[in-house]
Amino acid sequence: MKRALVTGGSGGIGAAICRRLAADGHHVIVHANRGRDRAAALAGEIREAGGSAGIAVFDVTDRAATAAALAELLDEGPVQILVNNAGIHADAVFPGMSGEQWDSVVDVSLNGFFNVTQPLTLPMLRTRWGRIVNISSVAALAGNRGQVNYSAAKGALHAATRSLALELASRGVTVNAVAPGIIETGMIDGSFDTDAIRRIVPMQRAGRPEEVADLVAFLASEQAGYISGQIISINGAMI
Ligand code: NDP
Repeated sequence: MKRALVTGGSGGIGAAICRRLAADGHHVIVHANRGRDRAAALAGEIREAGGSAGIAVFDVTDRAATAAALAELLDEGPVQILVNNAGIHADAVFPGMSGEQWDSVVDVSLNGFFNVTQPLTLPMLRTRWGRIVNISSVAALAGNRGQVNYSAAKGALHAATRSLALELASRGVTVNAVAPGIIETGMIDGSFDTDAIRRIVPMQRAGRPEEVADLVAFLASEQAGYISGQIISINGAMI
């Protein structure tokens, strides 16, 4: 049984990833920031279904708090599957974008990636087996009006994915990014109505969190050992 940490496991896509990795037989650490109760409920649900799960609560933008929480997790053993899924958006057209909107998005998606991934890397490398999956966005590939901050942060995550994959390739650790399009979660509530989705998405529907989870679970599996450094889209043929 491998230990898997899913940041933002308390959110829509993260919860689906947690359920799926648990169904695949991994011990899942459901991470939350403000949603401790949601994470605890999900871990309980996984255990009731016969799986193995615990929770971890920290703000990925707080480097010291993250390091302390990860040190506790590492006391129990290495984390061999890491899904960097925590993310926020703070949309505004660029001329009206505040420094706070810029910083907050970069802090969670990009600095959060560093704060969580760096401390886990060496223990993972020592096991000679690891999977790191970074959740980015179609916005990083196609751009999106009102999301200069978000697409910049996710695009930087793509570049980090490529470089880290090269560094870790010889040690059995793969690093990939998954770039979803429009997925049915709280993050998009109010942003897209049915007509907008039909206009934007050739498949004329939003994706489901479970569909993203299936892709992530494959990248985290034994079978995906030769896939690394890739940005894999899941977007209903948007691009
Ligand atoms: P949700 O809003 O449902 O979940 C976001 C998650 O991120 C929550 O679990 C939240 O934790 C966590 N999070 C936010 N800020 C922090 C922080 N400072 N520290 C730690 N955790 C934090 O969003 P989704 O499930 O939709 O999104 C998941 C990922 O998928 C994100 O990276 C997003 O950018 C990406 N994505 C989503 C798309 C969509 O259409 N939904 C499309 C493309 C990409 P908590 O609630 O506990 O505070």
